[in-house]
Amino acid sequence: RQIIEREDQKNLIPRPPVVTILGHVDHGKTSLLDAIRHTNVTAGEAGGITQHIGAYQIESHGKAITFLDTPGHAAFSAMRARGAQGADIVILVVAANDGVMPQTKEAISHAKAARVPIIVALNKIDRSDANQDLVKKQLSEQGLMADTWGGNTMVVPVSAKQKIGIEDLMEAILMTAEEMKIMANPKGKVFGTVVEASVDTKKGVMATLLVQNGTLKMGDVVLAGNSYGKIRAMFDFRGKKIQKAGPSTPVQIMGLTDVPTAGDIFQVYFSEKEARAVVSAAKADAALNRNLPKAT
Ligand code: GDP
Repeated sequence: RQIIEREDQKNLIPRPPVVTILGHVDHGKTSLLDAIRHTNVTAGEAGGITQHIGAYQIESHGKAITFLDTPGHAAFSAMRARGAQGADIVILVVAANDGVMPQTKEAISHAKAARVPIIVALNKIDRSDANQDLVKKQLSEQGLMADTWGGNTMVVPVSAKQKIGIEDLMEAILMTAEEMKIMANPKGKVFGTVVEASVDTKKGVMATLLVQNGTLKMGDVVLAGNSYGKIRAMFDFRGKKIQKAGPSTPVQIMGLTDVPTAGDIFQVYFSEKEARAVVSAAKADAALNRNLPKAT
């Protein structure tokens, strides 16, 4: 965020919103992510999107939306702990038959602390024991007054299972994004966050990055946490090879020396030599700090 503020305003253009799904266990986070993925995939690709790299992008009304598909408060908090702006918008899933539960409240406080707007997906409306009004009342007690009740929280009734209301949810996201004026400079300084990373026995370190500003290209030298390296291959969330990735685009890269941590901020450096020097200096600093007596 701070780095974006240094970008010249005139170079900023809208970028797709990055959305994360939070909510109580079993309220339907995974089902909703799957429903969104399937509803918005063009016919030919339907079978293709089976792998999960931690994020995916869909298109609705000709506009892109990026979803982080590792639901859970831990991932969201990990990003925040490292100072990264994990997501622009939180979708809070609340099961209409179960209502506001402890993890629902936790998600609300996480989103509020991060000053990220919340859209409520009132899920499982297909169930006979669903009680939408009761849940809206519970939400109002948490400071989220439904728009249909004169408040300013969009509450969208959905059924992830029967794929009802998914389009309405996408529209709510696009409307919120438009009001927020989410911007980036595709030609500016390249940085973003690490969504997830692991070691593949054949390919080496595979890291999913979410570009937040600038355009990441093949051959770029990336530094993330204490890991760095030149990008040897890049893939989109479908596993298709790509050459570059602009703002809000999730991309899987090959070529890092070590496994970075989810939530680490990455930046592009001029050369591997420069990146190595930065990592060595950081490691030396850390060692020095460990050996220093505690300040009194
Ligand atoms: P998560 O723990 O929040 O990721 O929840 P899941 O997506 O795993 O869903 C928990 C359970 O609720 C599963 O058995 C789903 O099939 C079920 N479920 C999810 N969405 C709906 C829905 O819209 N309607 C109904 N009836 N069941 C749902």
